[in-house]
Amino acid sequence: MDKLVSLCKRRGFIFQSSEVYGGLNSCYDYGPMGVELKNNIKSCWWRAMTYHHDNIEGVDASILMHPRVWEASGHVAGFTDPLVDCKACKARFRADHVATSQCPRKPSKAPGEHHECKLTEPRLFNLMFKTFMGPVEDQAAVVFLRPETAQGIFVNFLNVVNSSRQKLPFGIAQIGKAFRNEVTPGNFIFRTREFEQMEMQFFVRPGEDEEWFEKWRAERLAWHQEIGIRPEKLRWHPHGPSELAHYAKAAFDVEYEFPFGWQEIEGIHNRTDFDLARHQEYSGKRLSYFDEARKEHYVPYVIETSVGCDRVLLTTLVDAYHEEQAGEEVRVVLRLSPKIAPIKAAILPLVKKDGLPEIAAGITKDLMRDHRVFYDDVASVGKRYRRQDEVGTPYCITVDSQTLVDQTVTVRERDTMAQERIAATALREYLAARVRFD
Ligand code: ATP
Repeated sequence: MDKLVSLCKRRGFIFQSSEVYGGLNSCYDYGPMGVELKNNIKSCWWRAMTYHHDNIEGVDASILMHPRVWEASGHVAGFTDPLVDCKACKARFRADHVATSQCPRKPSKAPGEHHECKLTEPRLFNLMFKTFMGPVEDQAAVVFLRPETAQGIFVNFLNVVNSSRQKLPFGIAQIGKAFRNEVTPGNFIFRTREFEQMEMQFFVRPGEDEEWFEKWRAERLAWHQEIGIRPEKLRWHPHGPSELAHYAKAAFDVEYEFPFGWQEIEGIHNRTDFDLARHQEYSGKRLSYFDEARKEHYVPYVIETSVGCDRVLLTTLVDAYHEEQAGEEVRVVLRLSPKIAPIKAAILPLVKKDGLPEIAAGITKDLMRDHRVFYDDVASVGKRYRRQDEVGTPYCITVDSQTLVDQTVTVRERDTMAQERIAATALREYLAARVRFD
């Protein structure tokens, strides 16, 4: 992980937030490469959900919501983690993570195992961030930063039904920030207090929920593979009765094998009619659906797919990071899928003379209308290749003296380092066929 964290900083993927002030714990900023990668991941998810399903609509709800939303959803009463303090070293741990955490005094032991440890009994700690709306900091103005994006979908259920005229089964998708005052954030961007979620709530007739749960499970696992994650690094973790959230009838996590162990990257939940029924009860507004074919009203069941964008981004980086011997040197290469790679192609004039830079600049200008590409004429071509390998650029296009003769260029593929000559005029098509998310 240390090598990856340092590459992320050096090559402009991820920086510590407010670094010049010493940083802010668990908060991170995405740099030029990071923001491209993140946008590409979001776009792959959005396309997979909304473009590829004509029965899924999108929304973008506000982060601040009516405080009653969080009473109805159960978050005010129950969105808590059990917290234990160590009175000896003042560290705090999530009670359910103690066994896998490190004692700050003796990292080879778990908290409580060192003879000086003095762990308290677990006490519940609400993870929601509170803030105040308006100028007066009194109780009436307390609002929360949303701890999940899902509730913005539930409270808009009828608005979407009425405006889009969708019929069940149908879904609503959303990408947005969520905030949790995590007891123990860590492992770089794996667990942070501010993060982005990509969630989809699929509304179905009660009784059809189990079938849809299985369909979404299969589809979501396939998506992780489609964006390039190695299948052998992914597995399912079914939730046992003690792990199930208060709203869930069934839940499966997609887990990835990180250097720090198998961890959840996405949850698929059968939320039943819990959320809509609770909002109906707390708001006093009817939130049922009229099934015209059956001539009956009912509160739909919900299958939820919930994935953290930052966690997927970390997964793609961990999965892609490779070091390999290339001649005398160790080559660091990010084998990112071309669909999500921040830069799709680098355009490199072999030398800075004979009109080659002008031709390369012309190719860059032509390609940049469709893709994020990068022109580089500094240092030897070998060094330029290495720089692109490190940020995962799948194709390097080199303009050389042969280009002057027959208007062809070489295209070097990142993973195999194989080179082929193609006509410069064929580049747009060549790239489009390889980097598109279909
Ligand atoms: P955990 O048990 O790890 O705290 P959770 O089961 O509470 O996670 P969910 O509420 O199911 O997580 O959230 C759905 C997804 O949102 C997770 O699979 C993860 O990808 C992402 N996520 C949740 N909490 C965080 C966080 N603190 N930082 C980054 N991503 C998060």
